[in-house]
Amino acid sequence: MKIVCDGCKKEFTIKKKSIRSEKVFDIVERTFFCCPKCRKKYVISYSDKEIKENIKRLKLIKGKYLRKEVTFEEYEKECRDILERNNSLNARYKSLYGR
Ligand SMILES: [Zn+2]
Repeated sequence: MKIVCDGCKKEFTIKKKSIRSEKVFDIVERTFFCCPKCRKKYVISYSDKEIKENIKRLKLIKGKYLRKEVTFEEYEKECRDILERNNSLNARYKSLYGR
């Protein structure tokens, strides 16, 4: 993926190995990359215990759906609820700890 840095206007490609993560106050993990020229930090996402649990729940519900233990509607609704929850947690962390 190519982006143009807001800071120095240099165009660069985000490589998998340049994506890093760090702890924020021990309980939150920030995934980010930096502009190779000016080091401006770009946050991709935040993650905490609940977000990780929610991602596990997504996998579980997918498994249940594939085994036909839940209907497509139930599967879709649960996925939507979980993703909304994770998005709102991420939005909160972004406003608290920077985006
Ligand atoms: Zn830059």
